[in-house]
Amino acid sequence: MIELVGVTKHHPGGVWALRGVDLTVAPGELVGVVGPSGSGKSTLLHLVGTLDRPSSGTVRVAGHDVGRLPDRRLARLRATGIGFVFQQFHLDPRASALDNVADGLLYAGRPRRERRARAAAALERVGLGHRLDHRPGRLSGGERQRVAVARAVVGDPPLLLADEPTGNLDSASGAEVLSLLGDLNAAGTTVVVITHDHAVAARCPRRIHVRDGTITTDERET
Ligand code: ADP
Ligand code: MG
Repeated sequence: MIELVGVTKHHPGGVWALRGVDLTVAPGELVGVVGPSGSGKSTLLHLVGTLDRPSSGTVRVAGHDVGRLPDRRLARLRATGIGFVFQQFHLDPRASALDNVADGLLYAGRPRRERRARAAAALERVGLGHRLDHRPGRLSGGERQRVAVARAVVGDPPLLLADEPTGNLDSASGAEVLSLLGDLNAAGTTVVVITHDHAVAARCPRRIHVRDGTITTDERET
């Protein structure tokens, strides 16, 4: 599902955020990425998510060499093949939960009615079938993040990337989001989750430790 070979990333301003990363993730894995702040975790996730390009090295996602894909194909891969969840939810405050999730399907070019039906099903799946009309301001933090997860997976992407998804949540809401990620993974989605949260890391059968722009340990439960 993911293959990184000799990947480096130099950010403008002189920082080498990644200094040579090799990483392979097979379909169906649940991988936790841990490490100190500033170690390069988000940079790594952005490269895997094709939100950014490496300075050198190769990034392959779902069989595509990201560096060789024209922008339009890259946009399609990102829109249909990869779901994203961020610490800050990134929901539209003016739109209902249903419309926030339905927007995750805009790229698919399906009629609005179908988008809304699929969005409602995705919200049911995260336990928010009773909150379809609520705007984010009327939802708790945990509910907002579940809306964000529904939006990320409404198009059934094979790969879900999450950057500190429980970072803004109390432990009970965090546990709900964690169990959602576990359910999605059990249903076949490959999940890569950056986390400082020990409960999240403990749930991952594979944990990658990042430090100073390199992978220092790649640990698997046996
Ligand atoms: P982490 O997610 O592990 O906290 P990041 O990948 O966000 O680490 O950052 C790694 C390093 O790259 C840090 O030194 C950070 O300041 C730098 N960095 C990250 N993004 C940018 C950017 N867009 N421009 C310049 N420097 C950046
Ligand atoms: Mg980060």
